[in-house]
Amino acid sequence: MSRDPRIHPLFREQDGELAIAGRTVGEWIAAAGGRTPLFIYDRAIIAAKIADLRAALPTEVGIHYAMKANPMPQLVAWMAGQVDGLDVASAGELRVALAAGVDPAHISFAGPGKRDFELELAIGAGVTLNIESAREFARAAAIGDRLGKRVRAAVRVNPPFDLKASGMRMGGGAKPFGVDADKVPALLTEIAAEGADFRGFHVFAGSQNLSAEAIIEAQRKTLDLVADLSEYAEVPPPLVNLGGGFGLPYFPGDQSLDLAAVGQALGKALAARDPILAETRFVVELGRYLVGESGVYLTRAIDRKMSQDEVFIITDGGLHHQLAASGNFGTVIRRNYPLVNASRFGARDAENLNVVGCLCTPLDKLGDKVVLPATEVGDIIAVFMAGAYGLTASPTAFLSHDPPAEMLA
Ligand SMILES: *Cc1c(COP(=O)(O)O)cnc(C)c1O
Repeated sequence: MSRDPRIHPLFREQDGELAIAGRTVGEWIAAAGGRTPLFIYDRAIIAAKIADLRAALPTEVGIHYAMKANPMPQLVAWMAGQVDGLDVASAGELRVALAAGVDPAHISFAGPGKRDFELELAIGAGVTLNIESAREFARAAAIGDRLGKRVRAAVRVNPPFDLKASGMRMGGGAKPFGVDADKVPALLTEIAAEGADFRGFHVFAGSQNLSAEAIIEAQRKTLDLVADLSEYAEVPPPLVNLGGGFGLPYFPGDQSLDLAAVGQALGKALAARDPILAETRFVVELGRYLVGESGVYLTRAIDRKMSQDEVFIITDGGLHHQLAASGNFGTVIRRNYPLVNASRFGARDAENLNVVGCLCTPLDKLGDKVVLPATEVGDIIAVFMAGAYGLTASPTAFLSHDPPAEMLA
């Protein structure tokens, strides 16, 4: 059996089963009280990703974790000790970040529709707001006055370029995110006039990108843009959040991002940066790149049947927990996530199968025409790449099944 390169090498075989952090899936499920479906996130894999990033990126570039990729509180609490800050996008995420004991000075809050109670919570805690509009800043300033707190404000800029070849584009053209670059000078004047604490800029141009060239180009343009905009600020930006967009190879034929190339080019671009940014600190904000490969979604086969000449393995999981693997979260063409029979991880591939979830919808596919070892009712099917935008990005209320369990390995 040739191993799927999308399955992280720290996932191993033990006693014929898939093992995670030295325990077989059978042992993990027993530890969860026999419960399936079950998500497991392996910290050793996240630590390895962070170590790779630290080795590749220039030393003056910090790493922030974008919590929306996986907000499991235990995982966030552990991440807090591994990265240089957390980026949150709601009061709910902010509460988890604060409960994890993260210094509010290292938390930033982005999101185009922050409500007053969210602004209050963030300003009260001393978190940096990534301001998304002039109106939002005016609301924040009024709340700051009422609370007697100085607002920590960074400006999220909608850049006049996008991150080319991205899975999701979040900059360039008309967008709900950030402030158009040409409107930033007026906002900077407002920030100074209100006596807010200007923290810098946030530029996020896109997501799920595997092209080092495209990321390098966007980072260069971001440095030029923030240098130009800094001319209009009262003080140079203390921090520039360069965005991220580092993608993962989810599908056969995807090439991993060339991290070394990104790191080297960023080092050069920073060495040549405009002197107005001489004292500025820089961060990248990453979600899926840090946690995506660490997660595995375990489901149990509850039926096996033939329809015409095809075999269907029906599991107790599905798109209500792992929407992305069903191909219904931001993909145009449905392709399979890497998937194995975890109970027979050491066995030879033997049959063509369809692996589906338990929901009454034809969208609920986990593996469409996959080749697996002979698979029986009771076997555990593992779907990889489940650490980011898995449970958190899935419609758990759909069909009213119980939520899955989650464990941190
Ligand atoms: C979603 C998001 C991220 C994380 O994106 P990934 O593709 O998971 O790295 C980072 N920053 C902002 C502003 C986002 O909206």
